[in-house]
Amino acid sequence: MPRIVIDEARCKGCALCTIACPRHLISLSDKINKQGFLPAVISAEESERCTSCALCAQMCPDVAITVWRPKTGKGGAA
Ligand code: SF4
Ligand code: SF4
Repeated sequence: MPRIVIDEARCKGCALCTIACPRHLISLSDKINKQGFLPAVISAEESERCTSCALCAQMCPDVAITVWRPKTGKGGAA
């Protein structure tokens, strides 16, 4: 189960989340979204290494990232 979900349609490709992640799990896609930006993406493999720290979600100015914590459920998207 993925620990973060990136709403690619909302993403403006600013890359702040890629910098914020201590594990460097997020990268920018090479395919543009409907807004014309290269959205942030995380692969299933990289998602396995996610700690649900939510730093990426806190950094995102467009609230495009939701973080799921396995024990407590949804959180960290504020
Ligand atoms: S929740 Fe933390 S570890 Fe997971 S992708 Fe975001 S910044 Fe990286
Ligand atoms: S911080 Fe938000 S808007 Fe910027 S690249 Fe990441 S998901 Fe997209």
